[in-house]
Order: sequence, then structure tokens, then C-alpha cells
Amino acid sequence: MADTTPQSWDARATNSMFYGFTDLPSIRERGAVVLTHGEGPYVVDVEGKRYLDANSGLWNMVAGFDHPGLIEAAQAQYARFPGYHAFFGRMSDQTVMLSEKLIEVSPFETGKVFFTNSGSEANDTMVKMLWFMNKQRGMPTKRKIITRENAYHGVTVAAASMTGKPYNELFGLPLPEFVHVRCPHYWREALRGETEEEFTQRMADELDQTIRREGAQTIAAFVAEPVMGAGGVIPPSKGYFQAIAKVLKNHRIPFIADEVITGFGRTGNTWGCETYDFMPDAIISSKNLTAGFFPMGAVILGPELADTLQQVTDEVEEFPHGFTASGHPVGCAIALKAIDVVMNEGLADNVKALTPRFEEGLARLAEHPNIGEWRGKGFMGALEAVQDKATKTPFDAKLSVSERIANTCTDHGLICRPLGQSIVLCPPFIMTESQMDEMFDKLEKALNEVFKAIT
Ligand code: PMP
Repeated sequence: MADTTPQSWDARATNSMFYGFTDLPSIRERGAVVLTHGEGPYVVDVEGKRYLDANSGLWNMVAGFDHPGLIEAAQAQYARFPGYHAFFGRMSDQTVMLSEKLIEVSPFETGKVFFTNSGSEANDTMVKMLWFMNKQRGMPTKRKIITRENAYHGVTVAAASMTGKPYNELFGLPLPEFVHVRCPHYWREALRGETEEEFTQRMADELDQTIRREGAQTIAAFVAEPVMGAGGVIPPSKGYFQAIAKVLKNHRIPFIADEVITGFGRTGNTWGCETYDFMPDAIISSKNLTAGFFPMGAVILGPELADTLQQVTDEVEEFPHGFTASGHPVGCAIALKAIDVVMNEGLADNVKALTPRFEEGLARLAEHPNIGEWRGKGFMGALEAVQDKATKTPFDAKLSVSERIANTCTDHGLICRPLGQSIVLCPPFIMTESQMDEMFDKLEKALNEVFKAIT
């Protein structure tokens, strides 16, 4: 006879879902958290427990979980034209309007946009654009992509190859044409006595040597996140992007900014490249683009790449690439509204206004003897746990220190993310002062409990 015992939500999820990016031993012990809805920056689970989501979902729900304007924009577009593609010269009016808007708000004078469903697909699309362009221009071997160790660019085959994480070895990745240089994390990676300026120069020299070793004629692009996100919120060392841009210019190698997290206000300006004062040749966007209300990504090509790709495509008469839902009208209508909400309805201003409070909170918690460093930019922040502050010695990995802190936070009704031995905070742009205080109070409580238990 069939077992009619009602199953818990955790059992139903575990039995029916194949989990990705989930620490299985921890979920087996603690159970999955199944959510039903959100209220501002809070999410609510099936038992009615509320959590302040200090991660904005996965960095993306910048306007919170119930923004009426975004819901209305989605509903109106669903009623008007609920789906279309962008093949064969047919596309929705919303798709054209969003392309124009993205060029208008980009740092580029002119450009062209190509839509995808995700950040990974946008990175894969960029790679295919470069390969297509270079092959048609008689440079079929100009295919290598340089990225950094610890970078995160996604999970599709090219994007995963760009990602500088050790777990990609489990898939036999990266593919051969993907090359990684060092991560510019001064606090962790500097040599003894090395100044930040010297460190930055060493990073730029390493890139220069890598380009010379591989041969500039074999390199299609360098791709970097203005602030490394899933690498543990790592802002660049001082002057890094200026030094890197100089090397790339010398070798005439395109510089692509992966702004999937940093785009649309996260670092306090519309773009991370604005915050760090460099001009890329193209921008990869996703996440905040729709405030997380629709899966969408975009490649925004600056003038030079846009012109070259257009010329080459004119010769071949077609760029044979696209996704069924590229430029989906509902996604585009939501993105148009999201850009307006973030830029014109005070969300970007709120990030600017509350960044000092955010940084003070991080700095205060970093006074703890087991926090080695706080780092961040705008509404992206991290605290790195250490066993010994003076020597920067990490905790034994078996202690899973950051996972324990994050789990204790969850118990206290706060969602934050463990990454390496760091705890990452990436609050929604709508967060108020009192919600920010609640976030730091809960995190402090969790830090004290966990460090007391393990030290
Ligand atoms: N690039 C960066 C910088 C990201 O942070 C992410 C996602 N975290 C991606 C690309 C991949 O985006 P998606 O998960 O939408 O494929």
C-alpha cells in the first residue's frame, strides 16, 4: 500500500530536486528552506518564519521581493504580448526600447546589444562573438580568453572555463583555450613587505608576461569583474584596472567587464567600471538588469566591437546565434522598469546614502579577533574569518567556519552567504537604516556564538 504519511517540504524537495551549488551534508542535517513569498527585503518560509535576505537572493533582487511597480510592469506586458523571440528580424517593441536604453545608460557613445537568458549565456555569447569575428577577419587562432583565478563567470561550458574555481576540475574544465592569471587580492596575496602599488604592478607584469608567453595574436580578450563577487567580494588592489588596461592596450586585446553583479548600482554607480574609472570594450550584464524579476542577460558591445561584429556579419549575412527567449518582451518590459526604479526612484541614491553605515558595520565586526579583514564597495561586503589575525592563518577547513556562521544566521532569521572562509553581505538596495542595523546585530550574534564554540 502506498505510504500516505504527509511528507515534509524538506523531504519533498530532497526527493524530487537535484540540488546545484548546495552543501549536501549540511542540508541533510538541517533540511532545505522552502520559501513561499517575500516582503520588501525579507523572505518567508512555509512555516511562516521571516528571514532578512542580506544576499538579495543571489545578488539580484535589488528592489526586494514584492516591488509593486515591477509586478505591475510584468502583469501589463503579460497581458499585452506575453512572449516572443528576436530571430528573423522580428522582435517586440520592448526589446528595441530596452536595447536603446542599455546603450543610453552604458558608458559607450554608441554600441549594440545582444540578449540572453542568463549571465553565463551572455559570457558564452561574448566568446562566440569574438571567435566568429576573429575567424572571419582571417585570425582563426585568436581565440584564447584570459580571466583571473577565483573569478566567477558562470556555469555553461565557456563561462565555466572562464571561472577560476578549482571545482571546475571535476568537469574536466577549463577547455584548453582558457587561461587564468592571479587574483588581485592584496591582503591575502601580497608578498611580505610588498606595497599595494608594487603588488598591483606585479599583477600587471604577470598579465603582460602571460600575453607574451601565449602570443598576443592568440588572445581574443581579457574578462574581469570590477569587484569579484562569488570569489568572496574582492575589490581590486589600488590602480589595478588602470595598470591592466595599459597592458591590454599595448597588446591591442579587448577588455570585457563582467558587470553581472556590479551593474546597475551595486558599487554606488551605474557601472563598476565607472567606480574604478576604466573603459571596457564591452559589458556583460544580468541579475540586477531585471532586479531579479525575470531571467535575462545582455552583451553590451562598445563602438569598436559593435562596428567590427556588424561588418563581419554583413559579409557573412548572418550571425548564427540566439536563444528562443532572447529579448523576451516581458523580461524587457521588466528591465525597462527596473532600470527606472533603480536609477530614478531613489534606490541607487539609497545605496550611496547608506554605504557609510554599511562600511561602519563591517569595520565594527572586523574588530573581532577572529575577523582578519573586511572588504567591500557600495552594497557588496565581506568579512573574512581567521584563526589568527596577526598571521592571517585561516581556520581548519574541516571546521566549515563560514558555513557555521551562515547557518547560525539562518537560525536567527538572517540569510547571508558563506564563500571560502568569508561571510558575504549583498543587501537589496531598498534596505533601510534599521534593517541594516538588524542585519549587523544578527550577524554579530552569530559570529560571537560560532567563534565561542570553536576557539
Ligand atoms: N558573471 C558573474 C560575475 C556572476 O556573478 C554570475 C552569477 N553569479 C554569472 C556571470 C553567471 O550568471 P548566471 O547565473 O545568470 O548564469
